Amino acid sequence: MALRFDDAPQRVYWELTRACDLSCSHCRANANPSVDPRELSTADIFRVLDEFAAGSRPHIILTGGDPLKRRDFFDIVAHTVGLGLPCLVAPSATPLLTDDVIQTLAAMRVTAMSLSLDGSTPARHDGVRGVAGTFDRTLRIARAIVHANIPLQINTLVTAQTRDELADIYRVVRDIGAERWSLFFLIGTGRGARLSEVSPAESDDILNWVLDHEGGGRPIITTTEAPHYRRLALTRHKKVRGMGIRDGNGVMFISHIGEIQPSGFLPLTAGYARTENPLQVYRDSPLFQTLRQTERFAGRCGCCEFREACGGSRARAYAATGDPFASDPLCTYQPAALTDQRAMLRD
Ligand code: SF4
Repeated sequence: MALRFDDAPQRVYWELTRACDLSCSHCRANANPSVDPRELSTADIFRVLDEFAAGSRPHIILTGGDPLKRRDFFDIVAHTVGLGLPCLVAPSATPLLTDDVIQTLAAMRVTAMSLSLDGSTPARHDGVRGVAGTFDRTLRIARAIVHANIPLQINTLVTAQTRDELADIYRVVRDIGAERWSLFFLIGTGRGARLSEVSPAESDDILNWVLDHEGGGRPIITTTEAPHYRRLALTRHKKVRGMGIRDGNGVMFISHIGEIQPSGFLPLTAGYARTENPLQVYRDSPLFQTLRQTERFAGRCGCCEFREACGGSRARAYAATGDPFASDPLCTYQPAALTDQRAMLRD
């Protein structure tokens, strides 16, 4: 099982635009309805997709903002699919996402679609998303996606504000018939800096609850920016998904203006897609290379026996300390090497 992804990313999260008609309280992109004139052109995007396809086969996740706000959105999907790259679409639940759009994406054979659901009731979800009616629209669209036979992933934000709702949201996600449920553990960046993360102990409780509910049926439950889930899964002899994958190791992000970054939550730029081949940047830039070398990490993550499988959230380490190689403060684990060292100092 590969734990180092030196040659190519497995997942490319591509923020096609920052334009969006929602106003989510945690938005990483600080999205707003207007289009940034500096966005990459269609020709730039096609060239970059060609460069990926020439040397790798990553999943291309078209996100935003709302990717449907781009006029060339369907051309980009067609180009991605035409190159044989798995194409996943992460739109916003707005009136732009019609039944016709879903049918068109099904006919174009996109690999999957994702929607966000951050509450089990209209009051809770719409409170986070900033636009009344979004909960009902999200459920309606989710059922249409499942009906169109497009695998659906529901993304849910984990914060101090949503943690008590997770069991109820899980039931909604299961009833919709979603293929996956991804729990995104808040990183305090963008508008997300206004929300509160769960505590490390609460994080362990949630991850153990996930492991209790991960029985191989639908929905498959995954986590984002909580790689220490793998440490708990290994400790409990459970199936581990996404071994080793984290910001910069198997994951890369391209911003709406072409900045090449290790993830959408780690805003450090290693190159520019407008003028550089992103695969080369991924392989050769000092930032990406160091993010793949867990022995270069500091503190607990640097000496942890789970560091190759986990490695901690580099985005959270950066948000908390300004150092992307520091320890992930959401993890409760005390690596054996540190415990041994302390015991030796006591003796
Ligand atoms: S100390 Fe770091 S590498 Fe070890 S389990 Fe925790 S987050 Fe993962």
